[in-house]
Amino acid sequence: MERTGRIKRVVILGGGTAGWMAATALSRNFGERVHITLLESEEIGTVGVGEATIPTIHWFNELIGLDEPEFLRATKATFKLGIEFVDWREPGHRYFHPFGQFGAALPGVAFHHRWLKARAEGLDLPLSALSLATQAATHGRFAKPAGDARSILSTLGYAYHFDAGLYAKYLRDLSEKQGVRRIEGKLRDVERNPDTGFVAALTTERGDRLDGDLFVDCSGFRALLIGAEMGEAFEDWSHWLPCDRAVAVPCARVAATTPYTRSTARAAGWQWRIPLQHRTGNGYVYASPHISDDEAAATLMANLDGEALAEPRMLRFRAGTRRRAWRGNVVAIGLSSGFLEPLESTSIHLIQSGIAKLLTLFPDADCDPALADRFNTVFARDMDGIKDFLILHYHATSGRDDPLWRRCRTMPLPETLVEREAQYRRSGRIILDPDELFREASWLAVLDGQGFEATGYNPLADAIPQETNTAQVRGLADIIARAAPTLPSHDAALARIIGA
Ligand code: FAD
Repeated sequence: MERTGRIKRVVILGGGTAGWMAATALSRNFGERVHITLLESEEIGTVGVGEATIPTIHWFNELIGLDEPEFLRATKATFKLGIEFVDWREPGHRYFHPFGQFGAALPGVAFHHRWLKARAEGLDLPLSALSLATQAATHGRFAKPAGDARSILSTLGYAYHFDAGLYAKYLRDLSEKQGVRRIEGKLRDVERNPDTGFVAALTTERGDRLDGDLFVDCSGFRALLIGAEMGEAFEDWSHWLPCDRAVAVPCARVAATTPYTRSTARAAGWQWRIPLQHRTGNGYVYASPHISDDEAAATLMANLDGEALAEPRMLRFRAGTRRRAWRGNVVAIGLSSGFLEPLESTSIHLIQSGIAKLLTLFPDADCDPALADRFNTVFARDMDGIKDFLILHYHATSGRDDPLWRRCRTMPLPETLVEREAQYRRSGRIILDPDELFREASWLAVLDGQGFEATGYNPLADAIPQETNTAQVRGLADIIARAAPTLPSHDAALARIIGA
């Protein structure tokens, strides 16, 4: 029997990546039981960037029943095996943050302690030799993870690069087929219920009225409902994450696809390179006190692989969060809820994780505040964990001498990060909370890549005799070294999957 207090009408404000992801997921899950309307303004537009993802995207794709080959074709996507960091620790240095695992899942202690033990006992083997994703990426090769845990291919992980504009269009088509109604127009007024304080309706400049029981704020940096209307403050994290602008430009593809994002440190920030099927996306993320917009644009344009395909576009932002992304009957998802810069491609993940939380905690029409509290607690944990991981990249750059990097090296760090770094240095342990996004392999890649040396390892590893351990660790590196060049090139693998 249907309960009377169910939510029947959801209004989504905004049709960027967040708005259409929310519309697709909600319509897929609720079908005709909930009437979904999305308001967006073509004149205002979207941020239009956001083209690299992390492997959690597979969860969202399953949730919406996405057909992978169709999605790859529609969004001109490529596969991503991780991120290559160039010149971060110091000029001339490179390391790779791969998806998937290091080594293999052997019984007993976590694999990286076996590597640390082998190193302590004289084996000279870099961490990168123990990651198939890293070695495959180095050779421009790609394969999907194998299901059989005995195969070295099971240690792979992958995500996608895609065209943000095409992705929003793809999701819009799916949503509209699932019954979502799209209204074109600019928001003019927000009507509140004087008794509950809940938002009751949005009206557009043209006079359309959108009544709702629940409002999802996907209005981007403007945060029109959660910020401007509900008054939820923005907690500024720019003292830890100083970049506040980006200049972006696509350029022509000139070579075979490199199946990874590249992030190159620059004097006042860093530059991204994201290869797609039809073009390469580029951008310079920078701290405006340390470089002018013109200089940043000139640096970007001087560092493209191929001919620029458009004029450079400027974007402004601020790192930080809203502690309560859900207030009353307004739930903020996407840039309206906060922003962490794109260094580890986490924003689309945060959108889908916001949607997942909303589905799990989906309220009745009274919007039980306990559900909102739970949402806000878990959202804050997500943001805090990712924030610490990003700060790690910024402050552990011993060989960079520009003023931005000098400042980041000596900035006071969150206590949680100080503890984590110290524990890794002392014992090789990476202490994580159970639901943190970035797991041991990611922290290990970046700690090691940015120059942290572990002086100890878990004593459990001593249960394995030195020769056995060294032989097994070296053996795995040999298997990986032999396997990587046998994988198909990225472009051959992609062509086979999309049927080109
Ligand atoms: P927007 O795209 O800004 O959409 C806002 C929507 O609200 C639009 O449809 C707009 O029309 C509508 N709207 C606003 N005001 C009104 C109004 N008054 N009336 C009606 N409609 C209105 N994320 C990743 O995961 N990977 C990346 O590699 C990545 N790179 C990034 C690089 C940069 C430089 C930046 C700034 C962000 C990057 N992101 C990345 C983040 C990613 O771009 C966003 O998370 C994503 O695009 C979602 O944006 P959004 O939908 O929240 O907001």
